[in-house]
Amino acid sequence: MSIVVPRERKHLSADALFGLVRSGFANIPDYRLSDPDISLTDALMSAFAMFSLKSPSLLAFDRERAEGNLETIYGIERVPCDTHMREILDPVSPEWLRPVFKSVFRQLQRGKALEPMAFLEGHYLLALDGTGYFSSTQIHCASCLHKVHRNGSITYSHQMLGAAIIHPDVREVIPLMPEPIVQQDGTDKNDCERNAAKRFVAKLRQDHPHLKFIVTEDGLSSNAPHIETLHDHDLHYILGVKEGDHAFLFTQVQAAEHAGRVTHYERHDRAAGLVHRFRFVNDVPLNASNTDVRVNVIEYWEIGADKVQHFSWVTDLRVSKRNVFHLMRGGRARWKIENETFNTLKNQGYNFEHNYGHGQQNLSVVFAMLMMLAFLVDQTQQLCCALFQAVWAKLGSLLWERMRALFYDYALESMRQLLEALLYGLKKSNPIFAVDSS
Ligand SMILES: [Zn+2]
Repeated sequence: MSIVVPRERKHLSADALFGLVRSGFANIPDYRLSDPDISLTDALMSAFAMFSLKSPSLLAFDRERAEGNLETIYGIERVPCDTHMREILDPVSPEWLRPVFKSVFRQLQRGKALEPMAFLEGHYLLALDGTGYFSSTQIHCASCLHKVHRNGSITYSHQMLGAAIIHPDVREVIPLMPEPIVQQDGTDKNDCERNAAKRFVAKLRQDHPHLKFIVTEDGLSSNAPHIETLHDHDLHYILGVKEGDHAFLFTQVQAAEHAGRVTHYERHDRAAGLVHRFRFVNDVPLNASNTDVRVNVIEYWEIGADKVQHFSWVTDLRVSKRNVFHLMRGGRARWKIENETFNTLKNQGYNFEHNYGHGQQNLSVVFAMLMMLAFLVDQTQQLCCALFQAVWAKLGSLLWERMRALFYDYALESMRQLLEALLYGLKKSNPIFAVDSS
């Protein structure tokens, strides 16, 4: 019986991307002056491998056997012990990792893998949201945010502003490099999501000056300064609004309704038993103190047999009967940053909230960035690699556990070989021990 091997896009395969990540790490100059026994590249790649394999610790490997696979699959020459890895990575600036995120993104662009993610006239939908991943009253570092309680005790925490390209019809997300929400140099004040968003947007434009984006965020973002920041960086937006928080805006919609300026539109989906009801109005002021910031407002009701859901957004895109349904889908897809990104990292094997070691300076942030990088590589696989997709369809969430089991026990040549073994089984086609006779 012949086996049809799923075709893959070579440059977007796990092995090619691991090579790309590794050469990106190799371009980061080693900050240490003396000749170190373990290179910075190996230390970074070891942490990346730990997240790529969803392993709670590098020490979980059977070192006798696993070091071979860490070398052949991840290109690591010398694997540091956990303590040494933490020491080497603690002083690393998270910003040094930016070019590595960019090079994986470039590869996606070159492989035309981003094209199905285009949402509206060549624009990508970019979801932004803040999340916390660490909190403690004991462990802390120079980057920690701190909250002093009334009784004098302090809670330390780490947060980040996450960003991902999403599409309502695509399950996968493409994360960009997150912006850490951390203690900033030269200030006692805590950093916040709004400041992080400012930094993020400026860096986004440096990294991708010509990409067209529609930013989508929750109601906290619908304020005049943030909308002006988006506008200044040539970014469109669909932002959630809530009646309770944006009373002035909703009064304006009501006034427009009375003046006959509001458009009503309805679409019936008989198959799903849903009615999609809209009312929208273009060009209204966001709030009383910023009447020059003018927005277009969409209100939407999804009416089912026993449930009505209500959503509202503001956008700078001119709303019409022709595009309102599509814009609504873009606004609703925002949940993918919470569900398909943060919740996946927290609950689907990545151990986002697990403490891999905190460090004194940047370690906690560096680990979070490397985990996001591993997630980017995984999402690229899921989006582009037919072999990975077949293994995922077969094993689902058991995938990582099975992957680690083979990684521990067999000498492997590549991730491709490991995925083939997972798909076809070791006994049936025996690809592990196959000899290439060409
Ligand atoms: Zn910290």
